[in-house]
Amino acid sequence: METKWIKMLEDKPDMVAVKEAGHIIKKGGLVAFPTETVYGLGGDGLNQEASQKIYAAKGRPSDNPLIIHIADRGDLKRLVKEMPAKAEQLADAFWPGPLTMIFQKSDEVPWETTGGLSTVAVRFPNHPVALAFIKESGGFVAAPSANTSGRPSPTLGSHVYEDLQGKIEMLLDSGEVGIGIESTIIDMTVEPPMILRPGFITEEMLSEVIGSIAVDKTTQKQMAGMAPKAPGMKYRHYAPKGELTIVSGSGQEVKDRINMLLKAAKEKGLRTGVIGTEENMEFYHADIKMNAGKKADELTAARRLYGILREFDEKQVDVIYSEAFPGTGVGQAVMNRLLKAAGHKVIQAGQRGEKDDSNR
Ligand code: AMP
Ligand code: MG
Repeated sequence: METKWIKMLEDKPDMVAVKEAGHIIKKGGLVAFPTETVYGLGGDGLNQEASQKIYAAKGRPSDNPLIIHIADRGDLKRLVKEMPAKAEQLADAFWPGPLTMIFQKSDEVPWETTGGLSTVAVRFPNHPVALAFIKESGGFVAAPSANTSGRPSPTLGSHVYEDLQGKIEMLLDSGEVGIGIESTIIDMTVEPPMILRPGFITEEMLSEVIGSIAVDKTTQKQMAGMAPKAPGMKYRHYAPKGELTIVSGSGQEVKDRINMLLKAAKEKGLRTGVIGTEENMEFYHADIKMNAGKKADELTAARRLYGILREFDEKQVDVIYSEAFPGTGVGQAVMNRLLKAAGHKVIQAGQRGEKDDSNR
């Protein structure tokens, strides 16, 4: 199949293309579309065959459930058994926006869409093209990130085309997304509600609205014998082809340690890369240096991270060292994705030996 790649402005959806995209979804086909977080690979969330096609196009394990995207809060009641009061409060505060909530699923939601779970993940995105497209599609678009499983999530239309050309009918492209990492996921079926995946909406923001919140511990650290509660988080995700290691510690020590590691890699004839903050870039001696923005600018780091990981693939870098990002606010989500990309390989600068809690 040939993938139709249509470009448009984010705040001015091309309605001819969007209507055609909606028609494709209603017929059971697949369309990739922009959201404020990353690009999604959409199919009709109430059609089990469409969900199966999504898994096939991505090469995604079928036990990894999809998020259903809606464009009207009233549509939620068709998807869920009950709407907890705290979920109403969070929807008031953060929808439309980068927050996914998990509910007990209604009988209308196919098991294929939820990967066999009795719960369903729902999001109401805040992006003009996404909203127009979901409305034209009948209102219920199941969509994981529009990347091949295991590759970094797409933040540009060209990333989607790279991974999915020939596997989907259409790609709606409105340029670079605003946030750059996937939505926060919170499970509303447990008490207190639990964050399963950190994102732009932080723990602090959520607890300001509903009080006490739990966090799945596996989001920041690999825990022996403990599987992440969001099935998708157990896979080694977001991974660049080169070997990525995070170097954490304090300022000068990190820079010195990264340069030592780069030197050793170069001596072995490897092509080297570094991910660092703007202030530190000039100190590094790597073949390819990628700037994640200024220190303490976690939003820029979030927006750039996946593009940076893809660029290392393009430039065929063998080993990559990255500075760590602060584990607060959105930095927590950035660190969560970086840890997964690195298979949890972390070196503590200033200490001898390596701390490697990966279990690969
Ligand atoms: P993606 O759309 O690629 O961001 O992946 C969706 C994420 O949501 C995956 O990590 C899934 O495991 C997670 N997810 C979707 N539905 C559920 C659910 N019912 N319970 C727990 N996690 C879910
Ligand atoms: Mg994904």
